[in-house]
Amino acid sequence: MKLDRILPFARLLLEKAVHPGDIAVDGTMGNGFDTAFLANLTGENGQVYSFDIQKEALENTRAKLVNEGLIKQCTLIHAGHELLSTYIKPEHAGKITGAIFNLGYLPGGDKSIITQAETTKTAIEQLFNHLAPEGIIILVIYHGHPGGSQERDALMDYVQSFPQEKAHILKYGFINQANHPPFIVAIEKR
Ligand code: SAM
Repeated sequence: MKLDRILPFARLLLEKAVHPGDIAVDGTMGNGFDTAFLANLTGENGQVYSFDIQKEALENTRAKLVNEGLIKQCTLIHAGHELLSTYIKPEHAGKITGAIFNLGYLPGGDKSIITQAETTKTAIEQLFNHLAPEGIIILVIYHGHPGGSQERDALMDYVQSFPQEKAHILKYGFINQANHPPFIVAIEKR
């Protein structure tokens, strides 16, 4: 298959946006796969801020990062991404080049703990203010689980009305797959 699947496409965009020494954000740390991916892009001279509300996610991610020699450049934050602004160091304000929010529930964890439209929107708003020009926020939107369609609809309303002079926003997804396939929304600051 020549077309990029969803997660490879998200990573392709992050590779374009995040370079050694950069500042990046993983809005939903989960089991740490995206944090590790970003930490490889920023290298030791950059920094990745990662958020999750579940202790289990922090424990799994910390173990993964230590094992892969990536912990030095990561700040793991046990708090909701809606509090992002309070955790970004002043010297990193306006310097974030890439961010990802893999929405939904923790794979292998409690499926009732899901990301919520209002807190996700708050996080995007705060993060957008901290983005560098041409910085990218990627939302991977899962909408097959209970509560997923409400978050999808609220986020789509939000991004579709986002001022076009402030950002380029695209949607990428397969349109003939069964079972509510996830899709991507990418927001690039102008
Ligand atoms: N990126 C992860 C990975 O690489 O494994 C997968 C993330 S998982 C789909 C979604 C995560 O979002 C869950 O671990 C959940 O606890 C977390 N979450 C839910 N609400 C959150 C919030 N307000 N702030 C930060 N994380 C949240």
